Amino acid sequence: MPLPDNFLQSLGKIQRSAVTCSTHNPKPLSTIFETRIEYLKGVGPQKAELLNKELGIFTYGDLLQHYPFRYEDRSTFLKIKDLHEELEHVQVMARIKSIDLVGMGTKKRLVAVVVDETGEMEMTWFKGITWVLKRLPLGGSFIFLGKPALFGRKWSMAHPEMEPIAAANEARNKFQPVYSTTEKLKIRFLDSRGISRILEQLLPLVYPQIQETLSPGILDQYRLMGKKEAIRQIHFPSSPEGLSQARKRLKFEEFFYLQLRLLTLKVTRTEKSRGQVLGSTQLLTGFYTQHLPFQLTNAQKRVIREIFEDMKSGKQMNRLIQGDVGSGKTMVAFISMLLAIGSGAQTCLMAPTEILANQHYEGLRQYADSMGLQIALLTGSTKKAARKVLHEALQSGELALLVGTHALLEEVVQFKNLGLAIVDEQHRFGVAQRAKLWAKNEQYQPHVLVMTATPIPRTLAMSLYGDLDVSVIDELPAGRKPIQTVHRYDKDRLKVFGFMQEEIKKGRQVYIVYPLIEESQSLDLKNLMDGYESIARAFPQVPLSIVHGGMKADAKDYEMQRFVKGETKIMVATTVIEVGVNVPNASVMIIENAERFGLSQLHQLRGRVGRGAEQSYCILMSKVELGRDSRIRLDTLVRTNDGFEIADVDLRLRGPGDLMGTQQSGITDLLIADLSKDAPLLTLARDAAQQVLATDPNLEDPQHFPILRQVRQQKNTAVNWSRIS
Ligand code: ADP
Ligand code: MG
Repeated sequence: MPLPDNFLQSLGKIQRSAVTCSTHNPKPLSTIFETRIEYLKGVGPQKAELLNKELGIFTYGDLLQHYPFRYEDRSTFLKIKDLHEELEHVQVMARIKSIDLVGMGTKKRLVAVVVDETGEMEMTWFKGITWVLKRLPLGGSFIFLGKPALFGRKWSMAHPEMEPIAAANEARNKFQPVYSTTEKLKIRFLDSRGISRILEQLLPLVYPQIQETLSPGILDQYRLMGKKEAIRQIHFPSSPEGLSQARKRLKFEEFFYLQLRLLTLKVTRTEKSRGQVLGSTQLLTGFYTQHLPFQLTNAQKRVIREIFEDMKSGKQMNRLIQGDVGSGKTMVAFISMLLAIGSGAQTCLMAPTEILANQHYEGLRQYADSMGLQIALLTGSTKKAARKVLHEALQSGELALLVGTHALLEEVVQFKNLGLAIVDEQHRFGVAQRAKLWAKNEQYQPHVLVMTATPIPRTLAMSLYGDLDVSVIDELPAGRKPIQTVHRYDKDRLKVFGFMQEEIKKGRQVYIVYPLIEESQSLDLKNLMDGYESIARAFPQVPLSIVHGGMKADAKDYEMQRFVKGETKIMVATTVIEVGVNVPNASVMIIENAERFGLSQLHQLRGRVGRGAEQSYCILMSKVELGRDSRIRLDTLVRTNDGFEIADVDLRLRGPGDLMGTQQSGITDLLIADLSKDAPLLTLARDAAQQVLATDPNLEDPQHFPILRQVRQQKNTAVNWSRIS
């Protein structure tokens, strides 16, 4: 694409002007976008202060980027008889028939009965009653706008917006932007409409100076609208197409810069950090031919190959393994360790809890013993004397495998030559901890393998772990019977007990899990204890175990081991058993108050069964009345065992901000793009970023100038960028 003649000359000027985020420290004004918002006509110092405080809007640039979060159709009106509950917001034109104050104290509310030709409905207010009363003349006609709800057979709307009926005759917008705002702003007339009005002032003022932030090549290839037009359309859509193009463009841009940043991070790291070449397969071959207890799945083989490629490449590996519960990540870990040990390096495996570290240790010890390799366990409860021995064995290099909790990260733990560090269940650890692992080998950073059973939708993985390579174990070992999941109500408890009895008679073991949430801890603990007692009464002959977070580590471990050995048949527990625990003979998982658990947590818990050859069951217990989200969660779990499908639903229900680990990744800063809905666009943006970095890593090509400028700008403002590094 040809560049305009004066392109190069204008570089100096454009460099300093683009839509920017707020800078909280005062700087000399360099662009109109940095003008303080109080200077905008219709704002002034008082409103400006509120905009600062309530919405973080300090400058013209900030306001311009305060995008509407949805659009309302103000051009159509509904008749009362045509209302239905699926509608998020509707407009009705109606006359006020009666106004009453009902209820007492906190229940007090204002109820206005309104009518149109087709029926009547109620408008209700719980707050600001005096204010509303002044504006609601009996017999007056208004446009009411809000979400209709059905109570019994009566329609009602809580806290509707109102406008005098005369406004119905104005030219009404099919895409009225709706801006987020707050009560304090509304009182100062900066409701959604008010914000739209000040944007009407702002846009013509700054429009000529809005700079393009993507390269002509990208605009062309992905058929994106120019930045200027996109900003105009997003605030003042002229047509459905215009709006949708604008949204696409702005979302793409956000994803593009997010990916550009993550990919840059990754490139710098791979360049900076040489890795130890660990390429000997000798030890591994011995293990394959003599000790491997089962046939690896194809997915396991593929992932092992990917790891092997990394470890012998001379570059440091940073790889994430995603594999659903029961997909056999532990064996992949062990085999990777053999690769490292076979080339003369040491390895460690870090788990988030003591129970899990123990279990890994027990599991790996069998294999290590068979191979004549030294293995040790290090947790918070390892005795001082044992620690000393262990530290020495690590420093001399004779200890090849160390399994433990974050006790591994302590500085006194020094290896002779740590070659591979594996982190199980990553979501419990942060990036900072990964960095501590890197520091354990001064000459070469150890290769790092992160394993997680929390299936993260691909889109999210790309953003969250954009700095890691991702391998997926998408296959379960053969012969597993899918877990059968049912949803039962508390009143069915006797039947559930009957079912447990049968399974125990067949020799199986049962988990019963109770929620234990910090905020309601004492109540939850009581629940758990009550539950335990009622189980003890119902199953007098059956030996029980109980494990919860309030117990000492050794007591927990003792109980856990009794269950693992099959001495006890029922394990009553809180979610401490959520991750990793492996008792193949346990075939029933009962989850009490299942409605209180998150979706991925339920899936993790269910993954504790179905690990042996027997048919396994998961029973979700709940009360009968459930909220909409709770019901979707339980229905989803009953419908599918697929961790990725579940993760997708979870993402849609909760949004990415709530998912673990997202806070530090910067993705919660997205203004308009939505990871749960805009996956295809994210993939495109990632491709584009990859292409730019591959062909022009330093952004020297003149056609990438808009990108370079934007990157610099973002570095200067740094609000978003500082979080990642
Ligand atoms: P997770 O991926 O949840 O950590 P584990 O590594 O604990 O799963 O493996 C679950 C169970 O499956 C273990 O008992 C393990 O020995 C067994 N397993 C792993 N890989 C295979 C395989 N290829 N064939 C049969 N069983 C396997
Ligand atoms: Mg595991």
